[in-house]
Amino acid sequence: MPDNLHTSLLLEAGDYLYFFDAGESCSRTAHLLGHDLTRVRAVFLSHAHMDHVGGLPNLLWTVRKLHGLSSHPGLVRQPVSVYTPNMASWQAMNEFLTHTEGNFSLDFDLAAFPVTPGAIFEENGISVQALPNRHIPPETTVSRVFRSYSFRVESGSASFVFSGDVADVSEIAPLILHRHTDLVLVETGHHGVREVCAWAERYRDNIGRLGFVHHGRAILNDPDGQLALAREYTNIPVFFAHDQQCFDFVT
Ligand SMILES: [Zn+2]
Ligand SMILES: [Zn+2]
Repeated sequence: MPDNLHTSLLLEAGDYLYFFDAGESCSRTAHLLGHDLTRVRAVFLSHAHMDHVGGLPNLLWTVRKLHGLSSHPGLVRQPVSVYTPNMASWQAMNEFLTHTEGNFSLDFDLAAFPVTPGAIFEENGISVQALPNRHIPPETTVSRVFRSYSFRVESGSASFVFSGDVADVSEIAPLILHRHTDLVLVETGHHGVREVCAWAERYRDNIGRLGFVHHGRAILNDPDGQLALAREYTNIPVFFAHDQQCFDFVT
């Protein structure tokens, strides 16, 4: 839809960039915002649906391309880590990349790691906690292999929660219980405004701002009406995110 590219968040912290999901055009949007993509340190994928991973091959290809440009100022050959709940999807993507220019040979380290429940990343003052959800149910009821996740990210005293896609918005409650969260980003591709706001209102003391991402038809068709509805259901400052929207955090 116009002005609504696929899902991706970019966190800039210190000298590093971190992507949360990598929907189509994420690298181009980051570039247009003035970010140097050779500073990408890690990519965290909530799940392997195309609207969340479709931009990853081009993002990695672009980082490689920038490394190859001798005129690129201030280049640091830092490793790039991809965290994914679906290693088979990653392996297929990596195979795909090996058939691109130069067989995708790299002069920096690129590695993939499985997303598992709990703390998955702690570095440079950034911590990432992963919580499985049922957007993609485990293959069997006894399986401990989860294929879709929500994330909580902290840096100093700043924090945000990103739902990814969820079967039920209440699934992300463990990420906000008993602690403050500056920004909670919830997908409304599968959930209505009333449902999300009614849920969030129960945790209003814990949520600084509530942002909707991954908009469904109701918001795309009537953003003003849906925003007015949202403000009826919650007193938390609420907004509907748009492409290239930026937030500052005080750490
Ligand atoms: Zn999905
Ligand atoms: Zn999605």
